[in-house]
Amino acid sequence: MFSAVQPSRRTFLVGAGRFAAASALTSVTPFPAIAEPRPHRIAASALKDLAGAVQGGVVLPDDPFFDDYARPNNLRFRTLPTAIARCASETDVQACVAWVRKHGARFAVRSGGHNYAGFSTTPGLLIDMTPLSTITPLPGGDGLVKVGGGALNGMVYQALERLNRTVTHGRCTTVGAAGFLLGGGIGFNMRMFGMGSDLLQATSIVTADGALHADIQDSGDGSDLFWACRGGAGGNFGINTSFTLRTFPVETVTFFDITWTTDVGEVLHTLLTRLADAPPEFGSKINITKPARGSGDPRLTVSILGQLHKCSTTVEAIIGPVLEKASKTRIDRDIAYWPAQDLLNEFTYPYFYQEKSSYMRAADITPESVATMIRLAERMPGTSMANAFKFFQVGGKVNATAADATAYVHRGYDWLFSSEVNWWNRKDPKSLVDENLAWQERFYTAVNTATKAMGAFQNFPDPSLKDWSDAYYGGNYGRLRRVKTAYDKDDLFTYRQGIKPL
Ligand SMILES: Cc1cc2nc3c(=O)[nH]c(=O)nc-3n(C[C@H](O)[C@H](O)[C@H](O)COP(=O)(O)OP(=O)(O)OC[C@H]3O[C@@H](n4cnc5c(N)ncnc54)[C@H](O)[C@@H]3O)c2cc1C
Repeated sequence: MFSAVQPSRRTFLVGAGRFAAASALTSVTPFPAIAEPRPHRIAASALKDLAGAVQGGVVLPDDPFFDDYARPNNLRFRTLPTAIARCASETDVQACVAWVRKHGARFAVRSGGHNYAGFSTTPGLLIDMTPLSTITPLPGGDGLVKVGGGALNGMVYQALERLNRTVTHGRCTTVGAAGFLLGGGIGFNMRMFGMGSDLLQATSIVTADGALHADIQDSGDGSDLFWACRGGAGGNFGINTSFTLRTFPVETVTFFDITWTTDVGEVLHTLLTRLADAPPEFGSKINITKPARGSGDPRLTVSILGQLHKCSTTVEAIIGPVLEKASKTRIDRDIAYWPAQDLLNEFTYPYFYQEKSSYMRAADITPESVATMIRLAERMPGTSMANAFKFFQVGGKVNATAADATAYVHRGYDWLFSSEVNWWNRKDPKSLVDENLAWQERFYTAVNTATKAMGAFQNFPDPSLKDWSDAYYGGNYGRLRRVKTAYDKDDLFTYRQGIKPL
């Protein structure tokens, strides 16, 4: 959606000397020391400097499209930046890093803007990566595809569809590939191929000193930095300008979407325990949905959505007898892969939300723990929007990688649990939102205790999480801090739950 909108000429500052400025900036020595961060007052002369250096242009608040560029997915964190630099090249990215150091300006890096906790918002300079969105199959025929550091997932899917290939990908086309991959990346294919970050073969990244580390891989000098980019989350080590991914040929799949309105506790317990033994070709997400307040029927429903790649069994056999209790069953066999994704895709407009997540093993999920979830969920005050708690099915190939082999530490689990509170500011008073958030804390604690759930998904960052470093990174946090110290000891790339140098 970003690429379709061009800013106006009036505020799209492009300085006359941009080519000279840009080429000078590819040199990284001497590099400006980091000035003291200043609040979001950026001098007009500094903005002119920036415009002279960034070929992709600088967008200012009086541009008609400024608000659209600036809007994050979670409207709770809608801070307007002072200016937006649109990076169209690696040189532009280097220019932005040099500029924020020189001026001590606050900044944030953004691709899709879908960070749950507002970590890609800033009152200073927003470094918008979306113009860097080229997607190129690499020569050699082994299925490697290079994705620009600002590409949105929908662009990646279109390119892969043309190539008849796929990766582990999500359902939302407006999520950025950068945030998705750097924080792990979950999707219906992960049990077959591994996490999105497991498919990362190489990445290019501009670090705090302005150096471009091109196509670093899992060997040689850059290996620690590469290791950190596979699950260490965006915004920590530098600005990634490209990602090289392993891809896989597509085949037809079976799509399924099944809903239960009765016996929800029994159905949920059966699904959570039985499906852990499903083959890796089976990818699913279970939702327990609480309808919007005042919608008439307050009952919870259970639904499962997903796909089964070709294998020796069927969706019916995997789900088992509980299927007979379903109130709605849709199972479509042999659908071409990418048209099936159209059925699985979700599209959401920005709104207000908070998510809390953790990881569970099926062996720890008992009828009693599920009864606790249902009982508490029935007592959720609710908002003007539907709310849900969800289980993303992990396992399979996700667990074939050791917890310390990449920065993504959460291996050995069957389910990624997530509880959401969604609201709309004009319909849900603050007191009701607070009541729901307090309920969510109690629910999260009770569910984690009842199921021995641990950790939290770094790609679903939770601003209220106190022990976030342990929850997101577990035993990998120490190594991540060492990498951070090696590449950004002054903590230029910083945010509230960012990895801190030693
Ligand atoms: C509607 C919705 C659906 C989602 N679906 C899925 C899903 O199916 N699977 C899944 O795994 N996750 C999913 N997520 C979570 C999503 O993957 C993460 O929020 C992800 O980090 C968002 O990436 P982004 O580029 O859109 O976000 P941004 O907010 O732009 O960036 C996320 C973080 O990465 C940093 N960053 C951005 N670009 C770069 C870059 N080029 N280099 C370095 N750092 C960068 C930002 O500063 C920020 O800290 C979903 C989120 C939403 C809101």
